[in-house]
Amino acid sequence: MAKKGDMLYAWTNDAEIKKHAELGGAVSALWKYALESKTVDAILAIQKGKDLYDAQPVLIKNAADIKNTAGSLHCGTLLMAKLVKKYLDGAQDSRIGVTVKGCDAMGFYELAKREQINLDNVIMIGVNCGGSVSPVLARKMIADKYGVDPDKVHKEEIDKGQFIIEYEGGHKGISVDELEEHGYGRRSNCRRCKLKIPRQADLACGNWGVTKDKAGKVTFVEVCSDKGADLLTKAVAAKKIAVEPADPKGIEIRAKTEASMFRLADKWRMRDFSELSPHLWRTIEKETARCTKCYACIDKCPVCFPVADKLKGTTMVRPGTLPVDQMFHLRRFAHISDSCVNCGQCEECCPMEIPLALFSHAIRTEEDSFFEPKLGKASYTN
Ligand SMILES: Cc1cc2nc3c(=O)[nH]c(=O)nc-3n(C[C@H](O)[C@H](O)[C@H](O)COP(=O)(O)OP(=O)(O)OC[C@H]3O[C@@H](n4cnc5c(N)ncnc54)[C@H](O)[C@@H]3O)c2cc1C
Repeated sequence: MAKKGDMLYAWTNDAEIKKHAELGGAVSALWKYALESKTVDAILAIQKGKDLYDAQPVLIKNAADIKNTAGSLHCGTLLMAKLVKKYLDGAQDSRIGVTVKGCDAMGFYELAKREQINLDNVIMIGVNCGGSVSPVLARKMIADKYGVDPDKVHKEEIDKGQFIIEYEGGHKGISVDELEEHGYGRRSNCRRCKLKIPRQADLACGNWGVTKDKAGKVTFVEVCSDKGADLLTKAVAAKKIAVEPADPKGIEIRAKTEASMFRLADKWRMRDFSELSPHLWRTIEKETARCTKCYACIDKCPVCFPVADKLKGTTMVRPGTLPVDQMFHLRRFAHISDSCVNCGQCEECCPMEIPLALFSHAIRTEEDSFFEPKLGKASYTN
């Protein structure tokens, strides 16, 4: 019987899932069991669309379709929480299982705090996330740095610090550090992110801590809640998934990897935030001057979008007027300052390429630093 705090290796007993899964297929096997056992009414997951740059959200009700969602799409930068609120009535009357990255999980909590999502009806299986890559920049990176036609790439993975592609005629890996030094690699908000193992979810799954002979064959699972323990226990009893205790050495390696990811995130915070200092407000004023008030930033933000209409046409943000009133962005930053989940949606969807996520993350981190002295080291004021 699994319990909160357990660290396990898990793998699917389903041949079809095994074929498509990223690692041990634990995530997909658990979802398949959740549908078959009617633990949930539907699963919200990510599926490859036209190509690997096209990550699509899908709602699965038929257990046989789960296999199509197996595998990791590192160019998938969607945020799941908003979809549950907007299209599934915040899970008020249906039970939803959802695969989440750290930012997705935080989005769920922010919406639940505002009574927009009913967390009692949501099961979250978290995937560790070292960071995702913008699909637009990934195409450019593959052409420029790998010298490969992005349309010829049929698989990508991030392994041992390298972004690796497989394409017609071969495979190639380049270290993520090198890519990032040249402005490619993970999205800048992901580089600064410190929520790598999503323990806010019911289960946290990944490959860190999977030791050599098991590499690629099992999923490392940390049990983070009673709900997660219950789902795992029942799926094991139904023989849909097999588990064994994680190797203590693997647990140690996973903790060290997480710690080194934190240090890397601190390095990026220091670098990104110190470039803003000491002129943050002047920089915001200059950069937001090119805003066209398309409102993509508030429509995509998991914190803003429930009140988006209230932020749009007010006396502080006059309709039909450009350049945008300064109060629009200042008000938005004030609104989200203690809640920004650093998901990067605002920046990614901004057609004017205003570094909005950077600004809110800098503000948020500085606020956090008042309460968490350690973070203060990385704040833009230092
Ligand atoms: C962007 C990204 C970065 C990752 N980085 C790391 C890492 O640095 N270290 C680590 O230990 N593990 C990382 N993982 C997790 C790892 O790749 C596996 O997803 C995890 O170990 C589960 O393996 P599995 O075989 O059980 O999953 P599978 O059974 O293959 O299921 C994968 C699940 O992930 C969902 N999914 C795929 N792409 C996305 C996406 N972009 N956003 C949200 N959900 C998605 C699928 O819909 C499916 O539900 C990352 C995953 C993603 C998506």
